[in-house]
Amino acid sequence: MPGTLSFDDLKSRVQKRTIDTVLVCLVDMQGRLMGKRFHAVNFIETSYKETHCCNYLLATDLEMATPDGYAATSWQTGYGDYVMKPDLTTIRPVPWLEGTAMVLCDVLDHHTHDPIPHSPRAILKKQIARLEGLGFTAMMATELEFFLFEGSLDTICKDGFRNLQPISGYNEDYHILQTTKEEGIMRPLRNHLYAAGIPVENTKGEAEAGQEELNIRYAAALDCADHHTIAKHAVKEIAWSQGHAATFLPKWSADRVGSSSHVHQSLWQDDMPAFVNTSDPLGMSDLMRNYMAGLIAYAPEYTYFLAPYVNSYKRFAKGTFAPTKTVWSVDNRTAGFRLCGDNTNGIRVECRIGGSDLNPYLAQAAMLAAGIKGIEDKLELAPATKGDVYEDAGAQEIPRTLRAATETLRGSDMLRTEMGDEVIDHYVRAAEWEQEEFDKAVTDWEIARGFERA
Ligand code: ADP
Repeated sequence: MPGTLSFDDLKSRVQKRTIDTVLVCLVDMQGRLMGKRFHAVNFIETSYKETHCCNYLLATDLEMATPDGYAATSWQTGYGDYVMKPDLTTIRPVPWLEGTAMVLCDVLDHHTHDPIPHSPRAILKKQIARLEGLGFTAMMATELEFFLFEGSLDTICKDGFRNLQPISGYNEDYHILQTTKEEGIMRPLRNHLYAAGIPVENTKGEAEAGQEELNIRYAAALDCADHHTIAKHAVKEIAWSQGHAATFLPKWSADRVGSSSHVHQSLWQDDMPAFVNTSDPLGMSDLMRNYMAGLIAYAPEYTYFLAPYVNSYKRFAKGTFAPTKTVWSVDNRTAGFRLCGDNTNGIRVECRIGGSDLNPYLAQAAMLAAGIKGIEDKLELAPATKGDVYEDAGAQEIPRTLRAATETLRGSDMLRTEMGDEVIDHYVRAAEWEQEEFDKAVTDWEIARGFERA
C-alpha cells in the first residue's frame, strides 16, 4: 500500500476525531496538487467513491488561464466535468496540517468513467503497464532541488520579485554549519514527510546560497512520482508556515546555479535488480545497455517533459553541473546521463537533464517509453564519454529552447506511438501556449538594454 492509512484506519481516526479534513487531490499538467478539502465525515460516507471537478484543470497554465487549441476541452465544449476517483491505496496523514489526511485521485471521463489519456497519472500508468508486459518493474528516485528565501511570497510579490534574499549568505553545498541554521524548515520537512509515509533519505545544502536538496528513497515509479509531488507541495507549505518562500524555478537568477531534478532509474524482475551483470566490466546487463541506449537516442524528443517552461532552458549552461549533451558517462556530472553504482547491485542510470520544474509523472513516463523502445529494438549503447562532456563537439545536443523542444516533441513518432497522438498534441499545445505568453512579455532585460541606446 503506497499510503500509510487503509480506508478503515481513516474511518477510525475520523470517528475518534483525530482527522476532520481530507484533501482530495489530482495532479495537474504542471505537477501541482489540485482538488478540494472535504469534511472527513462526508468523505468516509460518500465522497470516497468519487467527486468531480471542472475539466479545465488539465488544460490551464500556471496562471489558471484557459488557452484555446485543446481538443480535450474548450469554451466551445462548455468546460464540463471530470470524475476525480480517489485511489484509496494512497491515503496518508498530512502531519504538517492539523487534523488532515490526503488522498490522490485518478481522473476519469464524466460519462464513460474511462481514464483521461492526458492525465499525468494515467500517462505514467500506461508506460508502467507496458513495462510490466515485458516482465519488469521500474524503480525510480527523483531528487528535489529548490531555493529558500527570506520573507514570505506575499512580501516578495509586493516587492515585484526584486531584491530576492536567499536564506543563506553563501554556497552551502554539503554545509553542516549553514544548514543547521535552516533546520527550522528542513527538520519538520523531513519528519513530517516521513510520518506521511514518504521515505526521506536526507536533505543537504546544495551548490548555491539558499539552495537545498531533498532525497527520497527510490520506489516503484508511480509511488516515486506521488512522493515527489507531495514533497514539493510540503516544501512550499512548510516554508510558508515559517514565514519563508520556496521556489522550484530552475533558474531564478542568471548569475546563480539552477535547480534540477535528477531521475535515478533501474529495472527489476521478480524483486531482483535486472540491470546487474557481474561478468560485465562495469556490472551492466544487456537490458541496462538497451534501456540506456533508448534513453539517450530519444532524449531530444522528450526533453519538453523534463523542461516544460521557457525558464527551464536557462539552466542548461556549460560549467554549471547542468548538462548540454545527451551522452553517458561513468560517475561524471558533466554528461546528460551518469552511470551510478557501477559493479554493485545498486547500479542505475541518473538522467541529469530534468529541471526542478518537471512534472515527475510525465518525465518518468517519457523516459520509460524511450527505455522500453531501446529494449524492444535492442538498441546498442555507444561507449561511455570521458572527461569534460561540455567540450565534446560530436555529442548530441539537448534542445536549447522551449521552441526547439516543442518541435522535437511534435515530430516524435516514438512518443506518438507509445503515448498516443492525443496526449502528444495536448502537451505540444501546452508548450506552444507557454511560448506565446512569453513572446508577449516585455522583459527588464530588453528595457535596460534598449531604453536609451536602441
Ligand atoms: P547522488 O550522489 O546523486 O545524490 P545518492 O547515492 O544520494 O546519489 O542516490 C540518489 C538516489 O538514488 C536516492 O534517492 C536513492 O534512493 C536512489 N537509488 C539508489 N539505488 C537505486 C536504484 N537501484 N534504482 C533507482 N534509484 C536508486
